[in-house]
Amino acid sequence: MDGPSGSGKSSASRGVARALGLRYLDTGAMYRAVTWWMLQQGVEPADPAAIAARAADPVLDVGTDPDGPTIAVGGVDVAGPIRGPEVTAAVSAVSAVPEVRARLVAAQRAVIGSGDIVVEGRDIGTVVAPGAQVKVYLTASAEARALRRTAELAGTTVEAQRAAMARRDALDSTRKADPLVRADDAVELDTTTLTLDEVIAEVLRLVKE
Ligand code: C5P
Repeated sequence: MDGPSGSGKSSASRGVARALGLRYLDTGAMYRAVTWWMLQQGVEPADPAAIAARAADPVLDVGTDPDGPTIAVGGVDVAGPIRGPEVTAAVSAVSAVPEVRARLVAAQRAVIGSGDIVVEGRDIGTVVAPGAQVKVYLTASAEARALRRTAELAGTTVEAQRAAMARRDALDSTRKADPLVRADDAVELDTTTLTLDEVIAEVLRLVKE
């Protein structure tokens, strides 16, 4: 399941995994965890060479239970801090560094293994799992995405969210390494006017097809 921020990927992926009794992997959380670690170490996110030099160092531990996904770096639970504004502002720069991507794509493939799983991100259908049985590309209008994010986060406004998401999406879709694009064989699903249950039902229908 790929798509831009706020398209509903996380809620839909977790709901689909729960309905099918499958594992769930949030690859964005892995990029966020590496970003959190770089910030902790004082590595400048805008310095790709510095990020590349440390890309192999953070020790990640990611859980795949859709009812309680976990993420730790070096044994520290970072599930909360990786959603904070500092990480969100820096994550696109860190995730554009090819050494970071190579390392995380390999780690994601190791977690996926040979079993069934629902994976969400930006490059799952194109790079991480090009042979996936079902590929869904979720979209939604900029307004709907900003409204959703504003409802999830305290102390922000729709306008601020719209601007922050537009910036992140532009960086994610124009970077050289594995940009956010719809895989040719992915089914595009516009969630603007759909409820979460409707999105999950539609994805389950695609799985059963
Ligand atoms: O999904 P989420 O918004 O948490 O992802 C955070 C960031 O991680 C994205 O904006 C993108 O820069 C990066 N990312 C990526 N590839 C993925 C998943 C996330 O580059 N597969």
